[in-house]
Order: sequence, then C-alpha cells, then structure tokens
Amino acid sequence: MTLSPHSQQAIEVNGRRYAWPQAPVVVVCVDGCEPDYLVQARRAGVTPWLDSVLSRYGALTGDSVVPSFTNPNNVSIVTGVPPSVHGICGNYFYDVTTGGEVMMNDPAYLRAPTLLAAFAQAGAVVAAVTAKDKLRRLLGHGLRGICFSAEKADQATLADGGIDHALDLVGRPLPSVYSADLSEFVFAASVALLKTRRPDLMYLSTTDYVQHKAAPGTTEANDFYAMMDGYLGRMDALGAVIGLTADHGMSAKTDAAGQPQVLYLQQILDERLGAGSTRVILPITDPYVVHHGALGSFATVYAASAFGSSVQEVLSVQPGVEQVLPREEAAQRFELPTDRIGDWVVLGDHLTVFGTRPADHDLSALDVPLRSHGGLSEQKVPLLFNRPLQGVDAGRRLRNFDVFDLVLNHTLAST
Ligand code: ZN
Ligand code: ZN
Repeated sequence: MTLSPHSQQAIEVNGRRYAWPQAPVVVVCVDGCEPDYLVQARRAGVTPWLDSVLSRYGALTGDSVVPSFTNPNNVSIVTGVPPSVHGICGNYFYDVTTGGEVMMNDPAYLRAPTLLAAFAQAGAVVAAVTAKDKLRRLLGHGLRGICFSAEKADQATLADGGIDHALDLVGRPLPSVYSADLSEFVFAASVALLKTRRPDLMYLSTTDYVQHKAAPGTTEANDFYAMMDGYLGRMDALGAVIGLTADHGMSAKTDAAGQPQVLYLQQILDERLGAGSTRVILPITDPYVVHHGALGSFATVYAASAFGSSVQEVLSVQPGVEQVLPREEAAQRFELPTDRIGDWVVLGDHLTVFGTRPADHDLSALDVPLRSHGGLSEQKVPLLFNRPLQGVDAGRRLRNFDVFDLVLNHTLAST
C-alpha cells in the first residue's frame, strides 16, 4: 500500500483530533436506518456481510441529533460537532435577519468546517457521494476532492464535483429521485471509486425513500438492506475500513386505522390565540415531500411577546405532544443554535407528527401508512464497524457524529 506523504499526521478539526487513515476509510450514513431494519434483514438471512460483521464485532447504539432530521445529522457527522457549533439545525428555518422562511441548504449557513475538507486540505484523497443533491453543497463545502449526488450525477464535472463522466464510472443510468435506485447508485459509486481512485476517506449518504414507505422486515425493506449488504461486502473485499451509522431512525406515525396522526399546530394556535400571533416552522420541510408530506415530529414556534407562555399552555396539553421547551432550554438540551430556532420547541411522541394547517400539506401522494421522524423516538441509531473497536470508554454516550472518531481513532486497523 502506498501511504500518502502526510500519512503520519493526525489532524484537528472543530476541537477533535483524527488519526490519518491507514487504509481506505468509508463512512456510510444510511438515511432513516432504524436499528430494527438491520435486525429484521439479518433474521431474514438476506445480509450475509452484516451477519458476519455483527456476529464478530456486535453493534453499538448512538444518539442522533434532535431534531432527528437529515441535514442537521449529516452535517454533524461530517463536522464531528452538534448544530450549536456548525449552525445547521434543520432543512428549513425562519431567518430572523431577513424575516423570511428559507431552506438551510446553502453553505453560507455553515459555521464550522467539515473534516472532509480538512483532510483534503492536508493532502488526503477524499470523496463524498450523496443520494439527494440537497446535501451535496453542505457536505462538499470547501472540499477539494470528489463530491457529487446520485440525483444529479449527470451534471458533475471536474470543476464542480471533482469528477467527469460519473455515470460512466458508476456504470448505471441516472436514477429517479424517488427510488431505492438513488441509494444503490451511491453504493455502486463507492465501489467504483474504491477500484479506480482508492480515496483515503469517503463519505456516503443515502436517502430514506424506502424507510419512509416500508417497515422493518417487509420485503421492500429487506430488499434494500440485501442490496446494501452486497455493496458493503464488495467494499470490504477491496480493503475498506467501514463505519456505518444513520442520520435518524424512523417510526410509523399513524393511528390504529393506519391514518396519519397529525397535529396541525398553526391551526390550533390560530384558533386559540388568534391568527398572526404565532409562526410555526417545520424544519423537515424540503423540496422532496412526496414520501412524508412535510410532516415530522419536531416544530419550532415564534410567538409575539404577548403570547409567550400561552403557546406552552395551549400545546402542552395536546395529545401527541411530548414536550414544549422554551428556546434556551431546548438549545441547551439538544445543542442547537439559539438564533435559528423559535421561542418554543415542540416535540411529538412516537406516533405523532406536526403540520401547520391541513391545506399546507398534500397527503395525496401518501400511498402507504405514514412513517416519519424528527423527535426523540427516532434518536437511536446503529453504529457498526468491520473492525474491532478499542479504547472506547464504557459509559461514554455515543453519538452518530462520533463515527469518524470511532473509525479513525478506535478501530484496530487504525492504530
Ligand atoms: Zn434522513
Ligand atoms: Zn426522511
């Protein structure tokens, strides 16, 4: 193996130290991977690679960031720090400086560098492949390396993405954005990159299209994990040290009849406190809403000063509301930036999601019982590795954003 000229150096990013990779390291963020998906796929006997890894090394369980949404967690993973440091606390937020509700996809909102960019800066060959394009710009911020999305792989260029002809490299057609194929493309790209570029460090992020539709143990879910297992086995055979985690879990959000269990917070607050007294923000909102209708178990509420504590009084008694926390307390407890959340943070229980008003949510495309995330009940995620771990303090609270620390500093191959 040829080592990079900088191979002996550890690097420090956002106050954490990371050892230089001694073999190609691949960190996989499986979107919406509730731990039970792995348990059920393994029971069904469709994941031989996972079975061998889990029987040898077991798995750890970590806590994701709350809100248990995609962007805050992916950014936490690639920076190694929580949203209070890196600034990305949702897919969507209310920008008090401009008075507008905006997507948080723009790297201008990032307040910390990524460790991917830092390793590339120090001389490592780094690649990041995402399923949806919405994450590409955040994850690839400042990265001098390969960074492209499956969704727009046809548009990747050497100048913008570090790679030309990505479709030819992967050997698959451009996938549909609403498909299991979108994630398969990410894994196939990883195998192709390992064969042709052998990156020192690679980050893969899939989409939770399947997890929003299919419960653990169903044929559709097991097919997804069988597909993933095949690619992970190929990466392993190519010498990759693999760390796998998730951005968040996934729960059924329905009543016993299978109907979505939705609390329309803006409607409730308008009825009780008057229209215009509050503004409900749903940070799950993104341009890809077909599979969840922009319904998640986390909301923040801005309130005119006269209505401050009334928000808590009204919402905390609603069935399905787990907690209503004032801004400072929520920011401290969930490590969120105080200037990017509302006066109140509202958490739904494991069966309940929040909407604004019924008219704002198009549920017509929901062809299966609603599954979603955002709250504390989707905070537990798997952490597993294809090497034994050492030197991890017993009793340490593990987070999904510790995955680079664990794989670089604590797998046996990395010492
Ligand atoms: Zn996600
Ligand atoms: Zn989702």
